[in-house]
Amino acid sequence: MLNIAIDGPAGAGKSTISKKIAEKLNITYLDTGAMYRAVALYMLQNNIPIQNEELVSKNLKNISIDFRGSSLDKHIFLNNVDVSKEIRQHEVSKAASDVSKIVIVRDTLVNMQRNIAKCTNVVLDGRDITSNVLKDAKYKFYLTASSQVRAKRRYDELIAKGTQIEFDTVLKDVEDRDYNDMNRAYAPLVKTEDSIEIDSTNMTIDEVVDKICSYISLNDIEKEPEVVNNIEISKPIKNPPITHKKHSIFIRAIVKIARGLMKILWPTKILYKEKFPKDGRSVVICNHYSKVDADPILSRLFDGKTNVVFKSELTKSAFIRNFLDCFGGIPIRRGESDMAALKKLIQKLENDEKILIFPEGTRNMSAAKVMLPFKEGAAMLALKTKSPIVPLFYYDYPGPFKKNYLLVGDAFTLEEFYKMKPKEGRDKATKYIRQKMEEMRIEIDCIVEQCGGNIKKYEEMKGKM
Ligand code: C5P
Repeated sequence: MLNIAIDGPAGAGKSTISKKIAEKLNITYLDTGAMYRAVALYMLQNNIPIQNEELVSKNLKNISIDFRGSSLDKHIFLNNVDVSKEIRQHEVSKAASDVSKIVIVRDTLVNMQRNIAKCTNVVLDGRDITSNVLKDAKYKFYLTASSQVRAKRRYDELIAKGTQIEFDTVLKDVEDRDYNDMNRAYAPLVKTEDSIEIDSTNMTIDEVVDKICSYISLNDIEKEPEVVNNIEISKPIKNPPITHKKHSIFIRAIVKIARGLMKILWPTKILYKEKFPKDGRSVVICNHYSKVDADPILSRLFDGKTNVVFKSELTKSAFIRNFLDCFGGIPIRRGESDMAALKKLIQKLENDEKILIFPEGTRNMSAAKVMLPFKEGAAMLALKTKSPIVPLFYYDYPGPFKKNYLLVGDAFTLEEFYKMKPKEGRDKATKYIRQKMEEMRIEIDCIVEQCGGNIKKYEEMKGKM
């Protein structure tokens, strides 16, 4: 398929130019910004605070977005209502930029965009098309212009639509959005090395269109499968939830008491707790020192939901087997591919749950604090379900009555390995995960040893470096 990827900052003229290119080549134009705007509009309409990632993620399930109309005049529908006009309102622009920072929003929309590009000759414009959505596209462009010129274009557009607004407000908005888009942690706007940069400050729209078209070979246009004029993006279909045995009040009470006691006997300070994503699927990984490593994670980060992978040897005792099952534990046979267990785990992730895995596969008893070799399970699950990974790191062998530290790291995806052959992807992703964990070790050593576990002090120290 002919895929033309165009990125650039707000107001660089991407959508006007992309539309014209699509018209000229008689292919489809997909405005990915409109998708982020539609999500933002839904949140605004339903008074869902955009800063509240948990609520936004929860509500994502209530949204269906689809494009309808001819390839050149597609309208965007939000839950079957044409919102093509509403999404252009000024307040939606800012909200779209905020909502686009949320990992699960991006993952959902990026999946839709890739599915469309797979079977359509299409021009896609946005912020992460060249760097992320269609990394391998043959034609990649980065469109830019000075912020003054871009703000003037947006200002003229808004005035023409009858919106009362000051030029300085639009300029500030453009600059704020640039900052937001270029500095967000996940899939920021960047000019990739293989993109052709076009600065349109002193060019007319037609000049830019001609320039881009001069690079394109029409031989790349392929026959599209019998699709739909409408690009229908359906709501994600969920698996039925996996049920575990219902636990009795007696067991629940024991666990509650045990967890209370653990907090006293085994005090654990969780560093950067706020980084732990409250909602959505993720493969949570942690280095593994002790039998009770899972407890602070499950009771204080997982919010009571216990999806922990444990070795099936433990299930030899019927009591332990029942006990762990009651709390959502999933036994896995080590050293062989336990397909039933893997299926369960995949299903849990697809249901947007979190699972906890210790990639070392067993406890690390060495005093040297060097992690054991990693098993490939965590990478395999994250690749298969496109789940982000949330890394956690224990500072040292934890113990009773001593101050234990657990660091929450930045969530990351294995996006760059998605397209590799499964074996190669798993292998490389596992090395990548380990590398990330090594970086966390350096960080937690620094926080604890140089700053006494004081995050504020650590942040100050980092600022000075
Ligand atoms: O392009 P447009 O201004 O309509 O996009 C609205 C917002 O959506 C942008 O400011 C940006 O934050 C976000 N966006 C994105 N990735 C894309 C397209 C848009 O993050 N591919």
